[in-house]
Amino acid sequence: MSNPNPRPTPRSAPPRRSLRTLLPYLLLFAVIGVVIWLAFFSGQGHDTVIQSGLVAYLQEHAGEFDTVKIVTTETTTKITGYLKDKTIFTAVVDRTFYETILQPTLFAADGTPLVAYEIEIINAYQRTFWNTFGPSLLYLVFFVIAMVFLYSRMAGAVSSSNTKAMEFNRSRARLETKVKTTFDDVAGADAEKQEMMEIVDYLRNPKKYTKFGAKLPKGVLLVGPPGTGKTLLGKAVAGEANVPFYSISGSDFVEMFVGVGAGRVRDMFQQAKKTAPCLIFIDELDAVGRQRGAGLGGGNDEREQTLNQLLIEMDGFSDNSGIIVLAATNRDDVLDPALLRAGRFDRKITVSLPDRAGRTAIFKVHARGKIIDDEVDFDAISRRTVGFSGADIESVLNDAAILAIRDNSDNVKLRHIDEAIDRRIAGPARTTRQLNEHERKVIAYHEAGHAVIGLKHPYSDKVQKITIIPRGQTGGHVLMTPEEDRFLLTKNQLFARIVGYLGGRTSEEVFFDDVSTGAQNDIEVATRIARLMVTEFGMSDLGPIQYERDTGSVFLGRDYTSSQKNFSQQVALEIDKAVRKIIEQAHDKAREIIEENREDVILIAETLLDRETITAEQIDRLLKDRKLDEPKQAAIASVVLTEKPKEEVKPKPEAEDDNK
Ligand code: ADP
Ligand code: MG
Ligand code: ZN
Repeated sequence: MSNPNPRPTPRSAPPRRSLRTLLPYLLLFAVIGVVIWLAFFSGQGHDTVIQSGLVAYLQEHAGEFDTVKIVTTETTTKITGYLKDKTIFTAVVDRTFYETILQPTLFAADGTPLVAYEIEIINAYQRTFWNTFGPSLLYLVFFVIAMVFLYSRMAGAVSSSNTKAMEFNRSRARLETKVKTTFDDVAGADAEKQEMMEIVDYLRNPKKYTKFGAKLPKGVLLVGPPGTGKTLLGKAVAGEANVPFYSISGSDFVEMFVGVGAGRVRDMFQQAKKTAPCLIFIDELDAVGRQRGAGLGGGNDEREQTLNQLLIEMDGFSDNSGIIVLAATNRDDVLDPALLRAGRFDRKITVSLPDRAGRTAIFKVHARGKIIDDEVDFDAISRRTVGFSGADIESVLNDAAILAIRDNSDNVKLRHIDEAIDRRIAGPARTTRQLNEHERKVIAYHEAGHAVIGLKHPYSDKVQKITIIPRGQTGGHVLMTPEEDRFLLTKNQLFARIVGYLGGRTSEEVFFDDVSTGAQNDIEVATRIARLMVTEFGMSDLGPIQYERDTGSVFLGRDYTSSQKNFSQQVALEIDKAVRKIIEQAHDKAREIIEENREDVILIAETLLDRETITAEQIDRLLKDRKLDEPKQAAIASVVLTEKPKEEVKPKPEAEDDNK
């Protein structure tokens, strides 16, 4: 980006600043100079006479003198003459010159003055206290002043760096005394709010609980996937209770230097005690609270010390001290068991991804303050956004608003929201890469294959939308969501999912007699589901035995291997066989459905090639009328939204998709 009118850099600023800092020194030296000048050269007159002309001068002006002062030091003699006309004359001569030549002209041998004016003789040669120590004392005084001055400046610097060092140990907790967030801002999480109400009540009125000797948990752990509103909920508790809110992230404790984190923990609790009742919120607790003695390299001293300090502090305050520690994490499985024992974080509240009603409520909360078109039905939208977290929803609405602005629309329309959702799922539309006709066709048939399975398989999720607009790494995708939010999945449903994932590839086989790399992701997901069915869900001939436990990647926090294997080589072979059997059955089923509904696949694929995107309602009509009459909607994706074309690293499979 070039700036046509670059602002000149203010080059004069630094020197001016250094001048200002130098100013005290300059003043000091000026004062010193003046003092020295006053001390040694004061009374310097108008007339200065050189040594050889001095005698003549004195004789010539003899009548004009009022007094003459003669100061003799070890080597020199200073003659100061005060004339009647108020001028002053000075001369500094060698002492020998004075004694041999000048003195005889001024005094007789017996010491009586030969001149008419008054002569004052100061024999500085005779050591007095002042002439001996005066100058050194003067220097000493200057030195002391200078030192004091410099020291005071340095002390300033030192003390500020000192406080910095102290602050290092100070907790980084941000204190908010007037938290505005309330439960109204947290949508949908009714069960969680209910649980928190008790804590709010306690913080509002700790005495009530003390009176009955009731103990409240000191520590409450919020566990849930990222973006589900844990931080928000913590804040809302503080807001509802109207108490100070200390928030800190677990990673704020962890520093390069051993002991710092522990110091911060101590400091935070000290601060909090002063303002009790209050709420301490430790976000991302797993950053400090990970299991001790685990991980690569045997552990982390700093983290362990911090964690120990946290444990000590939590034990150190009594149940009724009015401090509640709220912590959030999405990895409670890696937390040190000591943190979770009674008296510490013994209350666990699971904050889960919102259900449909929850999503609708969250949409409505974040729609506040945005101009949204009246025909937008958030309930319908939340049906399509299964698995979205609160944070996802917030960002979808925000993206939709930005899209609406770029689209020059006067409000946020459904298509903006839809586009934002698609982006959330699969990334922004790829406008830079042009697919050739054959590629588009393969993708269309691939996606139509997925869709037809979704439409025809009795246990399948509902097809919400099909698109062949390439996004991110995918060539297109089919969005399938369950009709209702589900907590359990049956074997039939899981199997139907695998069939659905294989539908794309199967369709390619049926219609092109060839297969593309586009099914890579489908195959990966299908295999994963099949493997889970065998090893964890006990849904195969191998019986209800858990063969593998997914411990997840704890980024070397606990184990190198991400899954624990509880079986022998013999069983491994059987697992592989069982997985293959499921996949093969699913593949056969997919082929069967696609062969049976050949006409529908073709219809959907051809419509897709024409329209690029079809929605659930359009699919219904299309299958009934065998054609779509309505006018094509202007594709919002054609609006170029990403300025930066994403560079292609390597040729990627064209028609990967995630039909969730
Ligand atoms: P977490 O801490 O669980 O990762 P956050 O509390 O930081 O998630 O949530 C991020 C954002 O998502 C919040 O600022 C909020 O705007 C939005 N959000 C999440 N859950 C909800 C909810 N239940 N109601 C309203 N907004 C939510
Ligand atoms: Mg958070
Ligand atoms: Zn696919």
